[in-house]
Amino acid sequence: MIAAIRGTHDILPGEVEKWQLVEETARQLCARYGYLELRTPIIEHEELFAKGTGESTDIVQKEMYSFTDKGGERVTMRPEATPSMVRAFVEHNLEQTLPAAKLFAMGPMFRYERPQKGRYRQFHQLDVEVFGVNDPAIDAEVIDLAWMLIAALGIERAELVVNSVGCAQCRPAFQEALLKALGDDLPRLCEDCQRRARTNPLRIYDCKVEADQPIIDRLPHSIDYLCEPCATHFRDVRAHLDAFGIPWSLSHRLVRGLDYYTRTTFEILGQALGAQNALLGGGRYDGLVKDLGGPDRPGIGFAAGLERLVLALPASAAPAVPARAFVVAIGDDGRREALVLLRELRAAGLAAQMEFEAKGVRAQMKRADRLQARVALIVGGDELARGEVTLRTMANGDQRSAPRADIVEIVRGLLT
Ligand code: AMP
Repeated sequence: MIAAIRGTHDILPGEVEKWQLVEETARQLCARYGYLELRTPIIEHEELFAKGTGESTDIVQKEMYSFTDKGGERVTMRPEATPSMVRAFVEHNLEQTLPAAKLFAMGPMFRYERPQKGRYRQFHQLDVEVFGVNDPAIDAEVIDLAWMLIAALGIERAELVVNSVGCAQCRPAFQEALLKALGDDLPRLCEDCQRRARTNPLRIYDCKVEADQPIIDRLPHSIDYLCEPCATHFRDVRAHLDAFGIPWSLSHRLVRGLDYYTRTTFEILGQALGAQNALLGGGRYDGLVKDLGGPDRPGIGFAAGLERLVLALPASAAPAVPARAFVVAIGDDGRREALVLLRELRAAGLAAQMEFEAKGVRAQMKRADRLQARVALIVGGDELARGEVTLRTMANGDQRSAPRADIVEIVRGLLT
């Protein structure tokens, strides 16, 4: 037997209904907030992520599924959606063609990470992005949409954490203060942190190495180094969240794993997810559109991990069994008519099934039970001679006869 690749997983019937619930809830919410769906390819030029996600990130350094295709082109299976969304925004000049550049996408992402609960090599994200809006109200709208999603899914005890990492003007002073505060401690940090100190010192806050934590806890906080416009922006974002009644807390360590973030960063953390407790995360990336060859437009967005949302769903979120009918055939004549009736029900928009292999009535009824059918339609020689069908309500076993000609409408009434 050839098994699935490590870090990938099948989403089986029984589980997939939860995915459909999450996806459907996300789609409805995005529509309500005015976000339009954009579908981008899974493969892109490697350069898009090297530039977009950032050379100094763990993703680009160690986790990308990149290969040379048959034409000699370096291609990457997307590790995240934002660079692709920016590319599509620029390539199709969407700011001219769309009423507002508020977009969402859903689909698989690929990162060569160490698999564990809530962390996979092929996983799925809902990605939400807005281009071209500076106002702090859009930061609040995006965070609110994320918060609403969690609430709509019935996920309890989720926690919103926010931070501001400043902008190109104020970040250099913060980085300098960070390196200065590290001083003699730097050589004692892990190898990754040594690299981060050279390439992007803020990333040191991402470090999960136990021994490094006491040193990192003593480092300065980005919000103490914000320039006036960044400080005002962050204050306004928090004021909007307060006005919405969305509880938040400040996390100095929230710099996020990607290079492009500016100003607002945020995450929503879930309970009972173990070490991988981030349900979603995002922030502002005001320089990214320009860096990727587009106009100088700000951007903000978030990505939610669908696996983690599904894991965090309350047990009560199990989607209801769809109402369906089951057709039971007795004898060859019955079977011929049962097949026609089955098709009529389906053509009328009703969910209906039949058992083709088991011949006995008892075996067919058993199947109807397993399928949790609401009603069984029994079609046999006697019934046919009378121009009738026997209707059985599965919940209580009540049976009655109904005219063959009216049966579709009667079943519709019972199922809807
Ligand atoms: P990121 O794109 O790293 O900001 O991640 C955004 C969200 O995607 C996280 O909060 C997780 O919910 C999810 N996520 C990221 N990496 C993985 C992974 N390897 N497996 C499953 N979910 C992930």
